[in-house]
Amino acid sequence: GPLTVGEFAKLLRKEASEVIRKLISLGIMATINQEIDVDTMSVIAEEFGVTVEYKEEVDESNFEEQEENDDPEALVERPPVVTIMGHVDHGKTTLLDKIRHTNVTAGEAGGITQHIGAYQVEINNKKITFLDTPGHAAFTTMRARGAKVTDITILVVAADDGVKPQTVEAINHAKAADVPIIVAVNKMDKPEANPDRVKQQLTEHGLVPEEWGGETIFVPVSAITGAGIDELLEMVLLVAEVQELKANPDKRARGVVIEAELDKGRGAVATVLVQNGTLKVGDGVVAGNYFGKIRAMVNDRGRRVKVAPPSTPVEILGLSDVPGAGDPFMVFEDEKKGRAIAERRMAKQKEEERGGNKRVTLDDLFKQIQEGEMKELNVIIKADVHGSAEAMKNSLEKIDVEGARVKIIHTGVGAITEYDVILASASNAIIVGFNVRPEPNARAVADQEKVDIRLHRIIYKAIEEIEAAMKGLLDPEY
Ligand code: GDP
Repeated sequence: GPLTVGEFAKLLRKEASEVIRKLISLGIMATINQEIDVDTMSVIAEEFGVTVEYKEEVDESNFEEQEENDDPEALVERPPVVTIMGHVDHGKTTLLDKIRHTNVTAGEAGGITQHIGAYQVEINNKKITFLDTPGHAAFTTMRARGAKVTDITILVVAADDGVKPQTVEAINHAKAADVPIIVAVNKMDKPEANPDRVKQQLTEHGLVPEEWGGETIFVPVSAITGAGIDELLEMVLLVAEVQELKANPDKRARGVVIEAELDKGRGAVATVLVQNGTLKVGDGVVAGNYFGKIRAMVNDRGRRVKVAPPSTPVEILGLSDVPGAGDPFMVFEDEKKGRAIAERRMAKQKEEERGGNKRVTLDDLFKQIQEGEMKELNVIIKADVHGSAEAMKNSLEKIDVEGARVKIIHTGVGAITEYDVILASASNAIIVGFNVRPEPNARAVADQEKVDIRLHRIIYKAIEEIEAAMKGLLDPEY
């Protein structure tokens, strides 16, 4: 069955950080406590030159156990799942709104649309599912707990502003996750729009337009007037067709939680994306750590529905508590089993919160060294220029306090990114930033994963701080 990254690393007799690096190279952002599925494990094992034999034993905590191999005959086309990314103010929200209001399912125009974090539109009698979570890069293009969620990314670039830092970040996220990009060159209605400049700039980032001999589709649009949006959606369908996206609607549903909250009147409400199978009212589901019988389902138009086929986003009512965004869900025929699995997961999480999950911070470093728990302090260095990163690395590696040393596991130039934080979390490292700052989403993930980030403008101060922490002489105000 699935193991956490940490458990799997132990099995391979490898450092968790090595496994994490391999996962990241596959576009899977995982932390040490996350579970990875059997397929992923065998790919990773192969990379290490190990073959894994997977015994088909009935492990009840195993989400995969019910994942029979789909008979190719049973597979049918499913709508693509699309996310929109791009620099702030380039028109992501406006574009999502425009698409949603002009391409509602036939006969439902004017229907109440409600925000459930995802919605479906229809063009040429085909559906497209949009995840309405702009800016949430980790979730939208990366994989939520090992499961790939997004099929296609629309990269929005304002024609009057061109490529900006978050444009580049979005490209990198999509590339890392191996998600194809369609470029929407937005704000074409503006007199100062310059689509050729956008093409030129994106070419420098490896997105070469078809008319220049490349493979990237560029569509000029205006999110305000609606011009070009039909073409954009047609291109989404075209790319989806090439991907041959399929699912089996005739089995128990599984998928991922898009967002969830506690509603005063309705209890725990979760928007889920059905990735395979068909979800039905009355089904018993495990979502994250919680079990529930689906009392009711509401679609993106605010209508009650009884079934939700593959690629459908739907709000479900009936869970015992609120799962996390990105948590997997799965239907269990046997209610008892479902409950037992949810309980076990809950117990496991509580145990991790109580005992394990110890994160290194400079504040408690000395204590850990004294207790003999810590012989090496893992450090990630990010600096504004290569020279500073190297200088810092050399100095830090010279520190030796009572047998405890610093081990530099990664150095890089530029802002502290989510990638750095996830790597730090996986390898129980701290991050030292020199003349750089964390990106906003990196900061958020660091808070969540409790990764210690230290920012400095003077090299010797950074070294002093780490040395002091190792000697237990850190200023108490830290
Ligand atoms: P986001 O930060 O990427 O979600 O950007 P928004 O959708 O909030 O748009 C930022 C601003 O650009 C808003 O004032 C929009 O009205 C405007 N805007 C978005 N798309 C267009 C467009 O196609 N043409 C023009 N003229 N303005 C646009």
